[in-house]
Order: sequence, then structure tokens, then C-alpha cells
Amino acid sequence: MPAPPPSETVSGASALARELRHVVNQGAWASALDPVELPCLLALPCVAGPAQESGVTAQAQLVIVLRHLLKPDQPEQNEGANRALALLLGVAATTKGFASVVRRERTREYLYPDDHGHPGMELDTFNRRHVQPLLDLLADELVEYDALYRMRSTYERLAAKLPASPALAVMWLDRFQYYYRMWSDLSGLENDLAVYLRARRDPQVADSRLERRRRTSLWFLARFFLHLDQFMDQRGGLWLLGDEEQAQLVADSTYFLRFHPPVTEQDASWLSFAALERPVPGFHLFNRKLDEDDMGRLILARWQAWLEACKCDVQAPGEDCELHIVLRHCGRYIEIIDVEWNRIVEWFTGPPGESVITPEQVAEMNQRWRLPAEDATVEHQG
Ligand SMILES: [Zn+2]
Repeated sequence: MPAPPPSETVSGASALARELRHVVNQGAWASALDPVELPCLLALPCVAGPAQESGVTAQAQLVIVLRHLLKPDQPEQNEGANRALALLLGVAATTKGFASVVRRERTREYLYPDDHGHPGMELDTFNRRHVQPLLDLLADELVEYDALYRMRSTYERLAAKLPASPALAVMWLDRFQYYYRMWSDLSGLENDLAVYLRARRDPQVADSRLERRRRTSLWFLARFFLHLDQFMDQRGGLWLLGDEEQAQLVADSTYFLRFHPPVTEQDASWLSFAALERPVPGFHLFNRKLDEDDMGRLILARWQAWLEACKCDVQAPGEDCELHIVLRHCGRYIEIIDVEWNRIVEWFTGPPGESVITPEQVAEMNQRWRLPAEDATVEHQG
């Protein structure tokens, strides 16, 4: 039986942390947990939804979620705390099935070991001071995990054109707006680089036109750095897509696109800043800054040298050529974002009355962030 659409409101971390005390006292195995003691934990969409879909009890699903969060190979920063929590809750093999006092003692010993005969911390002190902060941390992780679950589950509903939470649908729209700003930049960069590689072999093309293309391509790169920074600052930089593997590929591509162009951290921030113009960002302003400033001239010279370093045969570009690596990652980014957006776009443009976003809004978004490659060049400006 399919789960209902995930709700927008969930319990706060403090309510979850309070209920986790019951899990510590009883141990994280389904038969020990009393549903009456865990109303908020069991109502979390990431617990209730999968439980309903797979026909297990919510307590059993809660244990599955806790195990997942506290797995030793999770790429989390809280590695020590997660290990301690696994011991404390009885998710770890060495404490599974043990009474609360044994689990607490082993956790205490893990975090505050006896030191050459000097006893570590008293168990009472540990219980009083250190258990609740660990549970608070776990509650925060649960809230975060649940938010991602609700986003992914909403994505699946949008893709299947099922009713979905409007608030979460709007959050997807918001994410794709960030993704498409970078899409436009990378599409402009890809187009400029391809045109540049063709044009430079043509003796008819004047150097002023090549110079123009070097500058517009650098402008698109600067815009990409700017929008990537904004995405990091304003949305935490987490690449969230319906498909986790595709999200990882996009994250890798943006990493390579940051890494392969010949720009240092300092250059990148100079470029981002130069591309950031209020109220209207314009190539001509960026272009002027390139000439006004030593840093700008230096970056442009380095960019030109980098472009010239590509000696590839256009038909069979080199695997290790930096410029072609950048071209490939622009292409991959654009393709994946399009596929992921196209899976859900119809939910937004569907029959009137069922869509929370009007077709006009989607069209406007497409216009603002998905310029065709020819229009995305800025030759008419400046
Ligand atoms: Zn090349």
C-alpha cells in the first residue's frame, strides 16, 4: 500500500531527543520498544512511510533507520559520536541485546577509557552529563535524514504525477533554480569553448574575435563560480536529485569544473566578485574589470595559456587535456540536470487546478535559466 504524501511538519529535534531516552533504556530492538513512548519518532515520515510500504511495524523501521545512521562506514564527521551511540543504543554487535547498564558502561569505557589503572569517568557522571548530548546529536541527524527522505519521496511523487506536498514541491523548484543558474553558465562556457576551438584554426578569424571569445568564456566560468558559491552559502551545497547516483556524478562534475581551470582559490573569488554586479550583472562590466586590475589581466593571461595548451584533434580529443575534461563535465552536468528536471516538470505544468505552479512560472524559469546556447553568448553586449 503506497504511503501518503509526506507531511511538511515534523517534530522538532528536542522532542525526538527526549523519546530517544526510551530507546536507550529499552535497547534498539523492535520488540523492546513501546509505541506509546515514541509518538514523534514513529510518526517521522522516514519511519512511518517505509514501514507502511513494506508492511513492517514502525518500531522495526525505526531500528532500521537508526542502524543506517549509525553504520560504521557512514561518511560522517561524527564518527566517534556515532560509534558511541551505536554502543549506547545496542545497534553495535558488542552491545546488541544487553541491558541498559551494560551498554552505558561500554559506551563510557569507549569515550572515557580507564587510563593505566586510573579509572575513567564514573558511570553516574557519564549518565548525567554525556548521554543527553549524544541523543541530541542523534536527534539532529534524524531530522536531517528525514528532511532528505521527504524531499526524495516528494520527487518520486512528482515524477509519478501523484499528489504531493506543495511546500516540498516548491523546495524542489527552488533547488532546480539554483541548478539551472549553473546550467546556463556551463552551457555558455561549453558553447564558447567549442566555438573557440573551431575558430582558432580558421585563418579568416581575426584575433580580436578570438580575444572576445576568451573573455566571454571566462565570464561564464566566473558566473559559474559565483552561482556555485551562492548555492553553497544559501542551500548548503548538497547536490540533491531524485537519483542518488546521478547526484554524486553532478557533485563530482562541479568539483572537476572547479579544479581543472587554471584558477587559484584567490582567482576564483576575484572572478566571482567581478561577476557579481548589482542590479544587473553584465559582461561589459566584467570585461572592464579584467583590464582595470592586475589580477584580472593575470587571470586572463593564464586562461589564454590554458586554452592554447589544448592541441587536440577535434575528432579525437585527448583524455588528459584539461580543456576537454572541462568540456566533458559541462556536458555531463547539463545532461543530468535536464533528465532529472524533465522527470518532474509535468507535475508543475499539469492540468489546471492540480498544479501549484503555473505553466507561466515554469516558462519564466526556463527563460531565465535555460537560454539556448546561441542566445547565451553575450557578444551583443558591451
Ligand atoms: Zn584538448
